Amino acid sequence: MKIGYKTRQLPRDPGPAAWDSILPEAPIYPQLDEDITCDWLVIGAGFAGLSAARRLTQLRGGDRVVVIDATRIAQGPAGRNSGFMIDLPHDLSSDQYTSSLDKDLWQIKLNRQAIDFAKEVAEEFDLPEETVDAQGRINGAVTDAGLHHNQDYAAHLDRLGEGYELLDEQSMHEVTGSRFYSAGLYMPGTVLLQPAQYIRGLAKGLASKIEIYEKTPALTMTKSGQDWVVGTPHGKITTPKIILAVNGHAESFGFFKGRLMHVFTYASMTEAMNDDQIKALGGQKRWGVTPSDPMGSTVRKISGAGGDRIVIRNRWSFDPSMEVSEDRVARYGRDQDKGFDRRFPMLKGLKMEYRWSGRLCLSYNSAPAFGAVDDGIIAACCQNGLGTAKGTLAGIAAAELSTQANSPIADEMLAADAPSKLPPKPFAWLGANATIKWREFKGRAEI
Ligand SMILES: Cc1cc2nc3c(=O)[nH]c(=O)nc-3n(C[C@H](O)[C@H](O)[C@H](O)COP(=O)(O)OP(=O)(O)OC[C@H]3O[C@@H](n4cnc5c(N)ncnc54)[C@H](O)[C@@H]3O)c2cc1C
Repeated sequence: MKIGYKTRQLPRDPGPAAWDSILPEAPIYPQLDEDITCDWLVIGAGFAGLSAARRLTQLRGGDRVVVIDATRIAQGPAGRNSGFMIDLPHDLSSDQYTSSLDKDLWQIKLNRQAIDFAKEVAEEFDLPEETVDAQGRINGAVTDAGLHHNQDYAAHLDRLGEGYELLDEQSMHEVTGSRFYSAGLYMPGTVLLQPAQYIRGLAKGLASKIEIYEKTPALTMTKSGQDWVVGTPHGKITTPKIILAVNGHAESFGFFKGRLMHVFTYASMTEAMNDDQIKALGGQKRWGVTPSDPMGSTVRKISGAGGDRIVIRNRWSFDPSMEVSEDRVARYGRDQDKGFDRRFPMLKGLKMEYRWSGRLCLSYNSAPAFGAVDDGIIAACCQNGLGTAKGTLAGIAAAELSTQANSPIADEMLAADAPSKLPPKPFAWLGANATIKWREFKGRAEI
């Protein structure tokens, strides 16, 4: 039999998945070590894959659903992001035409469906309160440019009829304990996730209805009659339907070739604070601040299993190789230290315990890599950064599309353009990295 698709590369995640590391020992799911058949195979156990699996159990109770992941649950990008599940688009339409406003309102409605899905998961599977925390987020401004950005964004929110609150310097201090921010724009609709706790909880909650295999990468996909035979290191899976939920690694199988941009971002998490440090910091128990300049630092104060800690993310790199070195993680970590020291002089001596990086997948035209890529294979990939919400939506849509259920989300995703072609590699690499560096330079005050 001729192999249809063969993966060229398996995921490598640099540094520890800190959100997972601070939790008690995780349940271990087996590695596949035999040949099996199933009705549905989901490849990838991130937001997209596990959301697809949950939706399949709702739509096709009794079918045999198998989920495999190359790594351990919650140790891939799904367990190493900053946990902002955001309802509002990053860039609201800058014009006032009704069609643009309608588009934004529709996107917000969909993102809120993803958020509702996460809230339902937390309730159904009785997850700890910090897992899906309807806390809202603040866009923190440091410079005049940041302040203007917040004011412009607030004006768009007015046109959309969306609620928000403008915070002054003192209010920012009362929330965060830091004197770094000059102003803030509070938006109540964002949910703050403990991402590893959420992914673990979703997997554990589903485990009585589906089968999950960790450390079981899909290596090959071969058509055999009506079925696909998926090769893994120690067993084959025969199935008529595959949902491919591997985000940028879709390209490793040869799908969307030359159309996906593989970007990494970098983060550090402090050790747990003691009572004196918690008191010295002050502010609220949990909060999340995104930067007014997208190249600035995203910061969270977390509290719950794993203690009270600060998590800070900044820096970007475009890496078509889909890999970055530990050395780069350490080097870029110095910018997280810088951002931390500027914000929290009262926490001098509190050390970073974890540093890591993770992959995102973007496309040039911000289009998802979604829909049938071969007979019986549906891709739910390329979340364009906001993958906690968009990955959840893509997973739901893939399950609905493949079961032919009514699906406004799938309709919306299918109506979008396909990811457009990137410039040839050296130009894409040079252009993207030069743009990132220039924008990081301009946004350095908000690092
Ligand atoms: C540091 C950082 C901060 C971020 N912050 C945010 C944020 O605050 N909010 C937000 O919305 N997004 C954020 N993101 C992006 C977000 O994490 C991703 O968009 C999201 O994880 C994508 O979900 P997914 O399920 O599509 O893909 P993933 O989470 O990448 O899941 C895909 C899974 O497929 C598996 N896989 C790959 N190849 C194979 C194979 N051959 N066989 C089997 N399994 C395979 C991988 O191991 C992985 O577990 C951040 C990302 C990073 C790195």
